[in-house]
Amino acid sequence: MTTSPRPSRILVLNSGSSSVKYQLLDARDDARLAVGLVERIGEETSRLVHTPLAHEGAERRERTGPVADHASALKAVAEELAQDGLGLDSPELAAIGHRVVHGGLRFTRPTVITDEVLAEIERLVPVAPLHNPANITGIRTAQALRPDLPQVAVFDTAFHTTMPESAARYAIDVETADAHRIRRYGFHGTSHAYVSRRTAELLGKDPSEVNVIVLHLGNGASASAVRGGVCVDTSMGLTPLEGLVMGTRSGDLDPAVIFHLHRVAGMSVDEIDALLNKKSGLVGLCGDNDMREIRRRIDEGDERARLAFDIYVHRLKKYLGAYYAVLGRVDAVAFTAGVGENAAPVREAAIAGLEELGVAVDAELNAVRSDEPRIISPSYARVAVAVVPTDEELEIAHQTFAVVNGATEELNN
Ligand code: AMP
Repeated sequence: MTTSPRPSRILVLNSGSSSVKYQLLDARDDARLAVGLVERIGEETSRLVHTPLAHEGAERRERTGPVADHASALKAVAEELAQDGLGLDSPELAAIGHRVVHGGLRFTRPTVITDEVLAEIERLVPVAPLHNPANITGIRTAQALRPDLPQVAVFDTAFHTTMPESAARYAIDVETADAHRIRRYGFHGTSHAYVSRRTAELLGKDPSEVNVIVLHLGNGASASAVRGGVCVDTSMGLTPLEGLVMGTRSGDLDPAVIFHLHRVAGMSVDEIDALLNKKSGLVGLCGDNDMREIRRRIDEGDERARLAFDIYVHRLKKYLGAYYAVLGRVDAVAFTAGVGENAAPVREAAIAGLEELGVAVDAELNAVRSDEPRIISPSYARVAVAVVPTDEELEIAHQTFAVVNGATEELNN
């Protein structure tokens, strides 16, 4: 008698306030069967873009027109998948993996979603007001569509829960901090976990043997210090606002700037929140948040773009130095995400002048464009500098698959 293999397909959902991004992957062979997104949910001009990848030659499909809410969005996604023979009722679908931004201190691992787990994710809304409500809506919608299917939450904060108290606590009154769960949680954890592990693989070592500084430089950006596969510090804090200069977020600033903007400039807390999260960073400094456009402007001699670039790189260098000191010994620096993977000038400028620390970039290797993980440091350098494309969806699929197969003890290691 032959037994059919266990189902291994995972639908990965990343639900934002007005969008749903999705990928259907097979966790056994890492095959990507479909990718897509629904954007501008709740508006007249909603759009669904679906790319089937399971069959060669299948065309990308697009639907436009109002999608009222997340439930309608997910129904439309299910219809698109069904059209490719990959419907949500397929016996090969093992689980749905949800990206959940904030897991607080409780969720240190990917977790099967029960009513109690969902209630806890809801309890964390005050510390993640922009993200967790959308994630919860995505989970509820998916549950309604396939109530019998395991749903797994994979938390952006989980990888950082290993940070020691010395790195995780702000130096403020302890009672006040604890009463309001104010501490540094960190984000982009799925990416930092994936990239630090892949970097160890690239060096031919076990993650437990290497110390890595991961620089996740996308529109959002964060750095992490990973010792032997375990995160010991990261640059984002209570929210994703802290740390590096980002596309639209300021990153670190003197907290008194906020009092000043309120008391002297007469701005409300909501206005300051929007200023620092949406109108600062690269966009605040020069009007553009796309590094390609900033480089183009620099090439034309634009001074504002140059200054924005220099401030971005200066902050990056400060974190590199700080995490070098935190780790004591660094085996690799890994660049990832949109800017980290593609912007050779950012990598070159961030590493410039660090030769005394054993960190250097080879100009020719740095200029190579590739989707593969690669080393860009010269062979003599003590520290490997690597470009390692991140793949959060694949990591979520793997973690979800492992949870539904009862292999949780191997996760996050
Ligand atoms: P992510 O959030 O990881 O998708 O990264 C998006 C950001 O990556 C964009 O805002 C750009 O600044 C940057 N980016 C993407 N492609 C390139 C490229 N070819 N060169 C420089 N920057 C890029």
